[in-house]
Amino acid sequence: MTSQEVRAQFLDFFKEKKHKIVSSAPMVMKDDPTLMFTNAGMNQFKEFFLGNSTPKSKRISDSQKCLRVSGKHNDLEEVGKDTYHHTMFEMLGNWSFGDYFKKEAIQWAWELLTEVYKIDKDSLYVSVFEGSDDADNLEMDKEAFELWKAIVPEDRIIMGNKKDNFWEMGDQGPCGPCSEIHVDIRSKEDKAKVSGASLVNQDHPLVVEIWNLVFMQYNRKANGALENLPEKHVDTGMGFERLCMVLQNVKSNYDTDVFIPLIREIETITGRKYEKDEEVNIAIRVVADHVRAVAFSIADGQLPSNTGAGYVIRRILRRAIRYGFTFLGTKKPFIYRLVKVLGETMGKAFSELREQHQLIENVIKEEENSFLSTLEQGLMLLDSVIKSSKNKTINGQKAFELYDTFGFPIDLTALILEEKGYQLDIEGFEKALKVQKDRSRAASEVSKEDWTILLDDAEQEFIGYDSLEADVKLVKYRKVSSKKEGEQFQLVFNLTPFYAEGGGQVGDKGYLEAANGDVVYIIDTKKENNEIVHFSENLPKNISGTFKAVVDKKQRWRTASNHTATHLLHQALREILGTHVEQKGSAVHSKYLRFDFSHFSKLSVEELRNVESFVNARIEGQLPFEESRNIPIKEAMDQGAMALFGEKYGDTVRTVRFGQSIELCGGTHVKNTSDIWHFKIVSEGAVAAGIRRIEAITSDAVKEFYFKNNRMLFEIRDLLNNTQDPVKAVTGLQEENTALKKQIEQLLKDKAKGLKSELISELEEINGIQFLAKKVDLDANGIKDLAFEIGGQFSNLFLLLAAENDGKALLSCYISKELVSNRKLNAGNIVRELGKYIQGGGGGQPFFATAGGKNPSGIPDALKKATEMVNQME
Ligand code: ATP
Ligand code: MG
Repeated sequence: MTSQEVRAQFLDFFKEKKHKIVSSAPMVMKDDPTLMFTNAGMNQFKEFFLGNSTPKSKRISDSQKCLRVSGKHNDLEEVGKDTYHHTMFEMLGNWSFGDYFKKEAIQWAWELLTEVYKIDKDSLYVSVFEGSDDADNLEMDKEAFELWKAIVPEDRIIMGNKKDNFWEMGDQGPCGPCSEIHVDIRSKEDKAKVSGASLVNQDHPLVVEIWNLVFMQYNRKANGALENLPEKHVDTGMGFERLCMVLQNVKSNYDTDVFIPLIREIETITGRKYEKDEEVNIAIRVVADHVRAVAFSIADGQLPSNTGAGYVIRRILRRAIRYGFTFLGTKKPFIYRLVKVLGETMGKAFSELREQHQLIENVIKEEENSFLSTLEQGLMLLDSVIKSSKNKTINGQKAFELYDTFGFPIDLTALILEEKGYQLDIEGFEKALKVQKDRSRAASEVSKEDWTILLDDAEQEFIGYDSLEADVKLVKYRKVSSKKEGEQFQLVFNLTPFYAEGGGQVGDKGYLEAANGDVVYIIDTKKENNEIVHFSENLPKNISGTFKAVVDKKQRWRTASNHTATHLLHQALREILGTHVEQKGSAVHSKYLRFDFSHFSKLSVEELRNVESFVNARIEGQLPFEESRNIPIKEAMDQGAMALFGEKYGDTVRTVRFGQSIELCGGTHVKNTSDIWHFKIVSEGAVAAGIRRIEAITSDAVKEFYFKNNRMLFEIRDLLNNTQDPVKAVTGLQEENTALKKQIEQLLKDKAKGLKSELISELEEINGIQFLAKKVDLDANGIKDLAFEIGGQFSNLFLLLAAENDGKALLSCYISKELVSNRKLNAGNIVRELGKYIQGGGGGQPFFATAGGKNPSGIPDALKKATEMVNQME
């Protein structure tokens, strides 16, 4: 059965069981402060489990792109070393939100595995939560046990502890016991020798967990206590690649049709075989796995970078490059060449891979190039560390610096040291790493209290598209504290005019006014699990009262102007540069807007001017804001709206239209483009291979911009004696400057000529050597030119020229090549010795060398010493 069929059968099965099939949410999280990447199928449904919103269907099923490389689920170090953990993988899942529970979940899982996929019943084991005698004091999951007992023999039911069989979303929130399904794919003989039951959850590569059925029935509170959830849910997740391994009768995920084409391509490119050498095999698996994680992230709009999610992606890619470099002998970029094959195998299910194929290749190639040169630099640095080391152990702090500043991987450092017979002080390295980690953890740690609920069941409503003020009541609040922000309060209201940060647009600011006139400022607004959370520095006094919530109008207008201008800019770029332009990132602030887009070359001055004019023409055209709220996504697409890669859209969407510009957008906009006043691009540059960034300003920021420029112009005019034509005046000054420079150059040349004949006339013949030691008034380059010029005229010259510049002393020594070889003279050694007199040092070649020092008063002694030296020569 092909992997395509495996996926399709899963979804068909649950469709028949009345599940709504949805598409995968993006793998890179956009507006979730608690998670960087989707790490389980349930992430996109968190808000339903928390009861913040109601799902359209109580039964849902999908295949979700997951990435487990950070935070609570981090499998990165396993990947490649074993054959069944990936960084990026697909999780097949089915969900019940307050609908069916354990009975159906268990029966259907069994039916699908054994009747549809026809997996041999005797190779399956299931696990049940055994209870815990810790603070939670939980009972064994008898319900699940009884259900399983009706299906499988009792000796195939394994009791599992809290670590394996109790699933928690995070430190707080919904959780519950789970039942896992494990499969034993060992040979008959091996099965006869050791029972599969004893290998479950023992990290055996052929006895692995394939499906986890989680029964959400509790809520974990901030103080650690568990309470029963009012509604019970089912959340299941099955590893797609592992399922393919079982159904395709192979012993490793990498031997399935999901990975084989990638592995064959790696073999072709590198000439290494995926066969016997385990080091090579691991490296090939690492590369085959990581290219998927990186390609999918880029397709989701997350480029490698130096911070946050981008940094995680960069590290994954670098891990692959490093394994290639060390074990596959790849010294040139090669991972980008796998993108094509990946598109061929997965592009059908995930069209984003195909459509963004070129961009993904470019970005990966550029990263590879730059990391390979970092590796080279690091190797050189490591070499110098080794050379300067007094013993055979390399200091851990040094290795850490190499790792931290140059991104030079520690395992590579260790490997190279080992090859050269050195050791690494790994403890010192770990210590330095821990200090850094602790520091950044302390900085990002946030502690949250439980919500204090004031109003039950209040559905929250956003009215900020239509009004900027409203009378509101507090539904719940809590205190949160972090090192970065200090102590803050989070407030949730029954309705709100405040826009929460999202879609690239910043959150609204404003204030709350109580009936008695007391004011509390709202400093930011964000969404958490689909709930609009307002941030304030203190809590209103009368929390049960009614407040007037007022959005800062000026800030909202500036932000709205920038958001509308962003749409017009997007339209302008596609119109002027071509439809290959796709939005790759957008930040809408009150002071400026930033727009990243795919395009392969720098924009010319003319293109920039055209883009600006295009947008300004639409501002002058006074285009009205036209919106459709809650229209089916298909209708929006038919109207010409574009969906962005890496965004999550519901079945119904909002479209925003200004003239010919139509976008799917949840942001706030001006009522008419004329409200924007004017649009001005302030910078254009590259962010990555094939991605450009434009920063621009609108509304009163443009006024400020022109005002500042105008003031500067007046200042310049003032400096130019109030000339009416500063451009002409500056051009005049530039011309004058060039002429003066030429004159100086000529004068210096004349001076050097004079000096040259002067010096030649002063040469003295001592012991068959034409010798002169003298202080001159020239800089280092002047001296060098002069010495070589004079040197060209003699074959037995020994010239020592000294100079004093900016309080420093300089000695330059020129010795004819013949003297160097006949008399064994060496200018380098000579300047080193003479350097003592000027308190400095130097070196160079045998025929020309220089020394610098901080003691010009030692020059006469140095000259004297040189004369003595020559006099003593044979
Ligand atoms: P394991 O113990 O094997 O790491 P898990 O307990 O972390 O698995 P869950 O969090 O329950 O797994 O995820 C549900 C399913 O997703 C698992 O049963 C497994 O089939 C699959 N899965 C989990 N992690 C990975 C991974 N890193 N790569 C591929 N599949 C995975
Ligand atoms: Mg795991």
